[in-house]
Amino acid sequence: MDNLSLILSFIFGTVIGSFLNVVSLRFNTGTGIGGRSKCMSCGTTLTWKELIPIFSFTVQKGACKKCRSKISWQYPLVEFMAGALFVLVFMTFPPTSLLSGLTTFIYIVASCLLVVISAYDIKHKIIPDQFVYTFILLSLINLCVGGVSWLHVPSIPALIAGPLLALPFAFLWWVSKGRWMGLGDAKLLLGIGWFLGLSWGVNALILAFWIAAAVSVVWMLATYKRFKSRTEIPFGPYLILGMYLVLIFRIQVIDMQLVKELLVAYL
Ligand SMILES: [Zn+2]
Repeated sequence: MDNLSLILSFIFGTVIGSFLNVVSLRFNTGTGIGGRSKCMSCGTTLTWKELIPIFSFTVQKGACKKCRSKISWQYPLVEFMAGALFVLVFMTFPPTSLLSGLTTFIYIVASCLLVVISAYDIKHKIIPDQFVYTFILLSLINLCVGGVSWLHVPSIPALIAGPLLALPFAFLWWVSKGRWMGLGDAKLLLGIGWFLGLSWGVNALILAFWIAAAVSVVWMLATYKRFKSRTEIPFGPYLILGMYLVLIFRIQVIDMQLVKELLVAYL
C-alpha cells in the first residue's frame, strides 16, 4: 500500500479509536453510547476542537481547557493504538480481492474489539462477555473464510485449536476458583486459537507469558515497597499483544512442526 493510504488509515484508526474510548469508558455505567462528550470533571460539553484524536490532548497538554483538570492518558493512548493497528492490518492483510477485502474487514473489526477489551481489562481487571463473545464469533467466521493461507485452512485441526488453547486456562480458573486466572482469559484464548491455529496460537501464548513475566519483574522492582503479592495482573492485554506479534511479524519462538516430529519419533 502507498504512503498516503497508510496515513489515511492511521487517521481513520484514531477517529475510530476515539469512539472506542467512549465505548470502553461508558460500558456498564448506564450512560449509553449516544450524547455529546463532556469533561469528566466540570461537565462542560466539548467542542469539535477538543475532540480531535491525539492532537487535542497534545495541544491542551492533557488538561481540560475550562477547569484545567487532568485528562486520562487512556484517550490518546487508545487513539494511537487503534491508528497503529489499522495501519498494521492494512499493511499485513491488504484488500486486493473480494476475499482478502473480507479478511481485512474481519481483522479491522477484531482489532477494535481487542482494543476495547485491553483498555477495559487494564482498568477493571475483567473482560466483558459481550466483547469477547463477539470476538469469538468473528474468529470462527474468519476460520471459515480462510483468507490467510499461511495461518491455516478451514480444517478439523484448525477448529480444535481454539478449545485446545482455552481448556488448560479454563481448568486453572476452575481449580483456583478464579484466583490465578480469570475465565475471560480462557474465552479470549478460544478466539485467539481460532484466529491463529494451534501452532501460531502456542507461539502467541508463550510470547504473552514472557512479556507478562518481564513486565511484572520490572514493575515489582519499581514499586518494591508498595508491591502487594496479591496485586492482580490483567493477562488479556498480553495475550492480545502476543497474537499481534505473531500475526504481523510471524514471530516463531517454538517450531511446532519440530515438536510434532520429535513426539512422533520418540513415542
Ligand atoms: Zn473540565
